Amino acid sequence: MFSEAFLHGLPKAELHVHIEGTVTPRQRWDLAKRNSIELPFSTFEELVAAHEYAAESPGEVLRRFLELYYANHVVFKTEQDYRDVMYEHLRRCAEGNIRYAEIYFGAQAHLALGVPLPVLMGGLRAGIEEGERDFGVAAGLILSINRGHSAESGFETVRSMVPYQDIVVGIGMGGLEPGNPPEKHKDAFAFARAEGWHVTCHCDVDQEDAVKHMWQCLDVLKVDRIDHGINALDDAALIDALNTRDIYLTPCPTWWPGSNDPYRLARIRQMYDAGLNITLNSDDPGMMTSGMLHELLPRVTRECAFTHEEIGHLMANAFKGAWLPDAQRAGYLRQLEAHLAADRTASS
Ligand SMILES: [Zn+2]
Repeated sequence: MFSEAFLHGLPKAELHVHIEGTVTPRQRWDLAKRNSIELPFSTFEELVAAHEYAAESPGEVLRRFLELYYANHVVFKTEQDYRDVMYEHLRRCAEGNIRYAEIYFGAQAHLALGVPLPVLMGGLRAGIEEGERDFGVAAGLILSINRGHSAESGFETVRSMVPYQDIVVGIGMGGLEPGNPPEKHKDAFAFARAEGWHVTCHCDVDQEDAVKHMWQCLDVLKVDRIDHGINALDDAALIDALNTRDIYLTPCPTWWPGSNDPYRLARIRQMYDAGLNITLNSDDPGMMTSGMLHELLPRVTRECAFTHEEIGHLMANAFKGAWLPDAQRAGYLRQLEAHLAADRTASS
């Protein structure tokens, strides 16, 4: 058994969440109104219903999800929009004791819709700075290269981030995985590493060639982390390599209507038992029923049968795998250890 109060008070970090995926149907509706953008829904209820879908295969789930995800982007127009969405996400983080977050953003899709880069980056920066000031939640950005775009486009997008190295802490990759193996973007990743960035890449759940893609992430992209990475369980040699090279994985025990969630939760437990450095993440809390990290944690703890100590270990992984200055990391780990120590005393 676990205690809700223990989970709530636990100092948390999250390494895998997309700013565009934090937008709730309500926010999307309100932003569209504010910017006089016509959405393909006549009522708010219709928009909500579009988030509830079932799909046949993992590839189809990802395709359906991304369709909806990119449709969200049209509501962003001004610096204020990006600032507000970031600020609101950090406010919700504070409610759940999420002290630190590394947050993905996908520049290519916003630029393609006509948003200038300084508008996008200026808004995200303002949201981060004001969120830290008002809620005490620190955040860094991760650029998400869209793997479906050309290698040249990916490379240029990474290069355009050089002036923003104070807020962009790492480079990653997401998007539609079939037909877009990690190695397609090897030059962008080599450039990112040469610039001193940490790097990560999505290896989504049960995609075609999932294991092969994970090996490419290690051997070709030379990643520090892998996002999701649940299919590591399919290859014992891969598990060994991930553990030996001290790679952190960011699986997302998330669910939405129609998703085969018990299967995903069971594999989170298996990853933990295989000794993998995993962290728990919400991915797209505005678009999934599982919601924010602190909202999904009770169910995950119960269904994966994690003890308080194991949850503490998972949260320590998140701080250890974070791209933070060492002194800041040590401060968070001390807060976490104090929370665990108080819990041990209370339950002894
Ligand atoms: Zn993701």
